Amino acid sequence: MTFRIIIVEDEEQTTKMVRFYLEREGFTVITATDGPAGESAFRQQQPDLAILDIMLPGTFDGLELCRRIRQDATVPIIMLTARAEDSDKAIGLSIGADDYLTKPFSPTELIARVKALLRRAYHYNEPLAPATLGGPRLGLDPNRRQVIFDGQTLELTPTEFNLLQVLMSNPGWVFTRSHLLEEVWGYSDEAGEDTVTTHVSNLRQKLGAAGTLLIRTSRGVGYAYQEDA
Ligand code: CA
Repeated sequence: MTFRIIIVEDEEQTTKMVRFYLEREGFTVITATDGPAGESAFRQQQPDLAILDIMLPGTFDGLELCRRIRQDATVPIIMLTARAEDSDKAIGLSIGADDYLTKPFSPTELIARVKALLRRAYHYNEPLAPATLGGPRLGLDPNRRQVIFDGQTLELTPTEFNLLQVLMSNPGWVFTRSHLLEEVWGYSDEAGEDTVTTHVSNLRQKLGAAGTLLIRTSRGVGYAYQEDA
């Protein structure tokens, strides 16, 4: 079966990005751009999971929409907000949201949260997901969010992990810095490309001897899968 996910958001760019990444994972996406439209789309189409932006135009916002959905549905709900304000988070969670993301968020992070909630709510198991990415020496487990090199667990920050996961999902592929910025951080902006460079350097340091598996060219960064590295 295909899971159906509704996103209620008035910012076209965010909706486009979320739709792209969810569809790439094989989910069916339903969209609405304000509170009332979101409520009727939800009632008519009965999606399996809802992603609700808090700031919505129309007669009621994402928090009220969350409250209304929760009156008679138990589907997982993820709230989005532009502000990293704890009060929004507390209200969202107190009225029944299951998770929470602050914009700009990483698409990789969103997909991870969506899958975690689907697993919890429906015992969903990804049919084709490999248990680990990588080779015999360097392995990355997307479900446990663990990276192991020569039997040792590497301590990576969430951003470093997401970055490595994107690289290792596409062995031999060189990503430009702007592409990585979009995949991992969720936005594209020339100034942000230095952020990528910094995180790649940090990641390379933490990888130690496995750092040689990261290829760097003038075009960007990639992961070189080597069977007997
Ligand atoms: Ca909005």
